[in-house]
Amino acid sequence: AASPRRSYSITLLPGDGIGPEVVSVAKDVLSLVGSLQGIEFRFREVPVGGAALDSTGVPLPDETLAAAKESDAVLLGAIGGYKWDANEKHLKPETGLLQLRAGLGVFANLRPATVLPQLVDSSTLKKEVAEGVDIMVVRELTGGIYFGKPRGFGSNDRGEDIGFNTEVYSASEIDRIARVAFEVARKRHGKLCSVDKANVLEASMLWRKRVNGLASEFPDVELSHMYVDNAAMQLIRNPKQFDTIVTNNIFGDILSDEASMLTGSIGMLPSASIGDLGPGLFEPIHGSAPDIAGQDKANPLATVLSAAMLLRYGLGEEEAAKRIEAAVINTLNRGFRTGDIFSGGTTLVGCKQMGEEVLRSVEAGK
Ligand code: ATP
Ligand code: MG
Repeated sequence: AASPRRSYSITLLPGDGIGPEVVSVAKDVLSLVGSLQGIEFRFREVPVGGAALDSTGVPLPDETLAAAKESDAVLLGAIGGYKWDANEKHLKPETGLLQLRAGLGVFANLRPATVLPQLVDSSTLKKEVAEGVDIMVVRELTGGIYFGKPRGFGSNDRGEDIGFNTEVYSASEIDRIARVAFEVARKRHGKLCSVDKANVLEASMLWRKRVNGLASEFPDVELSHMYVDNAAMQLIRNPKQFDTIVTNNIFGDILSDEASMLTGSIGMLPSASIGDLGPGLFEPIHGSAPDIAGQDKANPLATVLSAAMLLRYGLGEEEAAKRIEAAVINTLNRGFRTGDIFSGGTTLVGCKQMGEEVLRSVEAGK
């Protein structure tokens, strides 16, 4: 029987630099997968970042946030560039991204770090260590030391200048991120490692207690705990031991960048930021790459894979997500590479042609 026709509205935020080039490719891929699988996507493109600053005077116009909130999912390209680097703090394009995350209430940041067999030579690790690495870091995004109060500057009792920040997590903040991580682990390979510093920090002690308290709800997930210093070491020593990692905001900031560097392919890595209600935000982890913007050199695959995450984690359209991921693998298997992942024996293509090859692979796939 034909599956019922589904219809979704997607907000596209191309942003700056290579953002418009890579988002345009991902949009075409979504459209094709949709038409092949009976899913309708209605796209609405609105400005954010430097592009919005130039046209409206602010990096996140009210209409942009409103459009994002009304839609079913948001796909972002990249934000920022040399042009605005000298701007005052509140007029930086990057402020738009922080406001967007806050406005959407996305508290869980999902960052996969996968070493594809076709790109194992790009990894910073030795081949035998890198091969088969497939990690998902789930980072708490809206709490912890980056937001905790009190914070500020002051002076101590000797009159010396001090700076201080506070790590705070409530039970409910921990529970909601842990639930997301258990669900993610369940959809992946069933292993969850919670990373903390529970030997030293009270916020981490509560973290560990709450995560343990939820374990009985997920009997199919194998839960373990690791201190963050050890986790940083194990990621380099034997990254294959990890499936899904869940951790707080600051540890996740560091560990997700560390994990992504294992792959060595910044142009290949997607991300998802999701909350309880409302649309999720999906974007490549790379920046606006102003050095190659407008030259048709950008690798669009990180954004295409972000569109796959949008389907899986944002809309629950697992089959369509798989079809996109399979098409990316197929395109690499056919030898096509952008400059950032180019190596001997492969075919160098630009952003547009890479997009066309992915479309061909989507069409050919089942
Ligand atoms: P941001 O500060 O916005 O996070 P950044 O300056 O730290 O960004 P990127 O903008 O991601 O870093 O660029 C870092 C390097 O990687 C640049 O040389 C850029 O050209 C390259 N790069 C980034 N993304 C891509 C991509 N999709 N395809 C090809 N090269 C890329
Ligand atoms: Mg930069």
